[in-house]
Amino acid sequence: MTSTNTAVIVSIGCVLAVSSFSARQTIPLQESSPSSRAIALTFDDLPYVDLSKNPGSAQRATAALLRMLAPHRAPVTAFVNEGKLQTGAERAESIALLQQWVDAGAILGNHTHSHADFNGLTVRQFEEEILRGEPVTRQLMQARGPHQRFFRHPYTHTGDTAEKKQAIERFLAERSYTIAPHTIDSHDFIFNAALAAVRRRADEASARRVKDAYLDFVDRSTRFTERVTREMFGREIAHTILLHANDLNAETLDELLRRFERRGYAFVSLEAAMRDSAYRTLDTYVTTAGPTWLWRWRQSLDMTVSFRDDPEPPEWVRAVASTQ
Ligand SMILES: [Zn+2]
Repeated sequence: MTSTNTAVIVSIGCVLAVSSFSARQTIPLQESSPSSRAIALTFDDLPYVDLSKNPGSAQRATAALLRMLAPHRAPVTAFVNEGKLQTGAERAESIALLQQWVDAGAILGNHTHSHADFNGLTVRQFEEEILRGEPVTRQLMQARGPHQRFFRHPYTHTGDTAEKKQAIERFLAERSYTIAPHTIDSHDFIFNAALAAVRRRADEASARRVKDAYLDFVDRSTRFTERVTREMFGREIAHTILLHANDLNAETLDELLRRFERRGYAFVSLEAAMRDSAYRTLDTYVTTAGPTWLWRWRQSLDMTVSFRDDPEPPEWVRAVASTQ
């Protein structure tokens, strides 16, 4: 996104389509049908959400995630917190986890050094977090040759004031970073916390229920985003889903990907998904929360598309998750 792009709304019949103009070029609407659905997978909090407490789980989860991704031939962009890389003798082991992702073809991106919350920091402090978050990742990716550099804000907190948001967007652009959006929020961290809670009491029946509830929730979120994009853009757009490198996905990813395939989705890289003209829509929405880009675009363009049926994780899952 650049400041020279101007987002406009083109009214086509009763359907609103959003596109952008740059150098007087119009972007043609691309129709997509269920047979040509596309989604990019993104994983946050690498090497593993809870690395310092559970290095053994990190090894198992990384192996399981990569094993499940392989047969689906799904390109992956994965966001690293280099502050999680351990020190001393264990540092090489934690970097080896990242190397496994790179060897499997993943593009590594920057998720700040310490998973910093921009809401509580100055622009200068957040800039330091970004710079400290890149040396190992850059080194690992250099061996792969030219690559797109992606950045994802922790909690997708993109700036709680317009000044902060614009300042960090400029900072990132100057360093050739592309901000990674997401259109489907899996809320997997809530289900993962619930899974950890029931596992602590060795309740495998509840673990199965949590995992089923997660898979069903992603199904509902996906159907919701399909409907919303048809209303916002007059078509279904290429989607981006935000997942985490956690135990939940290490146990469910194969079935999650199968369900996308059954809905006609092809897995594409984040770069390919973002070639969809929808992603040229400007995000000028300022918030302390971390909503999907669909909500940001809706707010930025003052659209009236209903989000009333945007699903939330079931109450019982939230209750179990909070028993940690
Ligand atoms: Zn994160």
